[in-house]
Amino acid sequence: MLSVAEAEKIILDLVKPFAPEVDSEVLPLSQAIARILAEDIISALDFPHWDNSAMDGYAFCYADLEDLAELKLAIAPQEIAAGGKVRQVLAKGECMRIFTGGMLPDGADTVIMQEDTERVGDFLQLKAKPPKGEYVRRKGEFIRAGARLVSSGIKIGATEIGAIASARCQQVKVYRQPKIAIISTGNELVSLESSQPLQAGQIIDSNLYALSALINQAGAIAIPLGAVRDDLQKLETVITQAIAQADLVISTGGVSVGDYDYIDGLLAKLGAEIHGRSVAIKPGKPLTIANFGKVLYFGVAGNPVSAMVSFWRFIQGAIAKLGGANETYWHPQFIQANTTEDLHSQGRRETYLWGVLTYQRGKPIFRPVSNPSSGYSSGNLISAIGTNAIAVMRVHQTYVPADDQVLVMMV
Ligand code: AMP
Ligand code: MG
Repeated sequence: MLSVAEAEKIILDLVKPFAPEVDSEVLPLSQAIARILAEDIISALDFPHWDNSAMDGYAFCYADLEDLAELKLAIAPQEIAAGGKVRQVLAKGECMRIFTGGMLPDGADTVIMQEDTERVGDFLQLKAKPPKGEYVRRKGEFIRAGARLVSSGIKIGATEIGAIASARCQQVKVYRQPKIAIISTGNELVSLESSQPLQAGQIIDSNLYALSALINQAGAIAIPLGAVRDDLQKLETVITQAIAQADLVISTGGVSVGDYDYIDGLLAKLGAEIHGRSVAIKPGKPLTIANFGKVLYFGVAGNPVSAMVSFWRFIQGAIAKLGGANETYWHPQFIQANTTEDLHSQGRRETYLWGVLTYQRGKPIFRPVSNPSSGYSSGNLISAIGTNAIAVMRVHQTYVPADDQVLVMMV
């Protein structure tokens, strides 16, 4: 049995990220949100494009103040608003009214904000001497033309969209979205689309939906291949199809040690390299980690809760790395929070307990969904409804008392 850290390392080492030349596409910027940039974006412009004012106030030359008996400057007749066309020139001992974003007049190097001044006729009285260069945004101070504005491997968010737009890029090269095939296995499974009444022993193939949702959230494309009976021949056909069309395959069910758990044997027969079969994690112990050449294969447990934990803890990061995202995105996000209740674990495996994370007076608080002493069931997805976080109890950590800190994985 692998530790969680070992499993994560094996998985990430197996992933061969997309090649930017082959596995990419060019999109209009407006469609690139949440995609992974496949090339560095080099700015053709200086930012700011020219010296300009960061405030509504008055621009002047700092050195002019040295010669003055009192802090009083003549106000030039012109005004400079943002977008003002004419380049203004300042005479010695003069200041000029300027508004935020207005281009600094030639000769000026400092702006005083209007609140720190008083107008006396055609003169401006400065209430105090400001520091030299105050409230001036210098040309090229944020970034110079020719420098890298956004790096390849970044997930494009609203900030990046805004910055890329300001650099006049209408299109961006992004990685294609990884294609993830999902196979549900089990004789008990019925498709949600079926109109037949459920027979005794049957359940709806809900994993297909939950996993598709997780895959979409991870920025990938889900290819649902439906539910397959625990039948070697049928499984072989579907797994072969899956490997042929996907970058990564997830099958649920059939990886425990039950009599109908065929997956591992079948993978070996089909020529997969198998790198792990189980992980010291609860829920989610059965986890087959395999690859068919470049195509990764994950066999996760059928229990809906286990399948989701396997995804959050391991598969999500693999998808991020595969899809070209930089290392920031390869691991789940963890924070420390104070638990409202006692948390218990048997301590043999890293144990994941569902709950809700909120903030009270700025402090993260974790409230577990049910009384942990009554136990969590990996089959009970219903109990996880409305949750947004999972407390992680490390191996050997059997008890966290209420009000103490616990590691929390954000989901
Ligand atoms: P297995 O991993 O095949 O032994 O299945 C473990 C449990 O998960 C059983 O109770 C299955 O009925 C349930 N299960 C398996 N596959 C699914 C699925 N696709 N959707 C919902 N529950 C499932
Ligand atoms: Mg099964």
